[in-house]
Amino acid sequence: MSALRPPSPATERLAQASADFAAKLAETQEVLRGASREHRAIKQASSLGAEDVIISHLIAELGLSITVFVLDTGALHHETLALLERQQAAARLPIEVHRPNTGQVIQWVARHGQSAIYDSMALRKDCCRLRKLEPLAQALQGQTAWITGLRREQSDARAEVPLIDTTEQASLGRIKYNPLANWTWGDVWHFIAQEQIDYNPLHDAFFPSIGCAPCTRAISQGEPFRAGRWGWEEESAKECGLHVRTA
Ligand code: SF4
Repeated sequence: MSALRPPSPATERLAQASADFAAKLAETQEVLRGASREHRAIKQASSLGAEDVIISHLIAELGLSITVFVLDTGALHHETLALLERQQAAARLPIEVHRPNTGQVIQWVARHGQSAIYDSMALRKDCCRLRKLEPLAQALQGQTAWITGLRREQSDARAEVPLIDTTEQASLGRIKYNPLANWTWGDVWHFIAQEQIDYNPLHDAFFPSIGCAPCTRAISQGEPFRAGRWGWEEESAKECGLHVRTA
């Protein structure tokens, strides 16, 4: 784990509820209940980051019939894999793990090299296609809805994220629910602290947004929320394709 400063508990450093937090929480719970009522084939995509552990916690608390899935790209931090193991052991919810095709990953690395993701954005995006997008398509096959932890505050590209996103409906036949769209980072940590939710210790080491190990770093004070993701690329390019809006 590389840290710019000594680790400091995110729950102590960041927890700060908005004045209207109770209303936001009620809204989130209603979105989740509504999604579960409307769809029999619905899953939560969890990166095991702070937002996603909250959503999984609420799904379990509300007793909703929603399966959680994790994309294990083969390049996750050991802290993330350890959290996955703890969540599976806790068995509060069924957790599916989807992985890329091992043979294709081996071929890709043999052809392009271990550090190809740093050579060009095209190769980086191709790695995301192989390790994330293809397993995502497999995870969502037959689903009419999915749930994500996107928040408007995370980046300019996410500033318009709606609670219920229907832009994938025509092309992919599914709705995307973003029940934390209105939450601040302070709200996230307030709720994690209040509910004592298990979380990824990388957040204590100043990783606000957690992805694959080779593509994620801690951020410095004042840097944008997603500065640590693909830190060598332009801000506007910092998506892996999972959340690119189709309309
Ligand atoms: S985040 Fe990095 S390692 Fe992970 S799939 Fe994308 S390019 Fe590959």
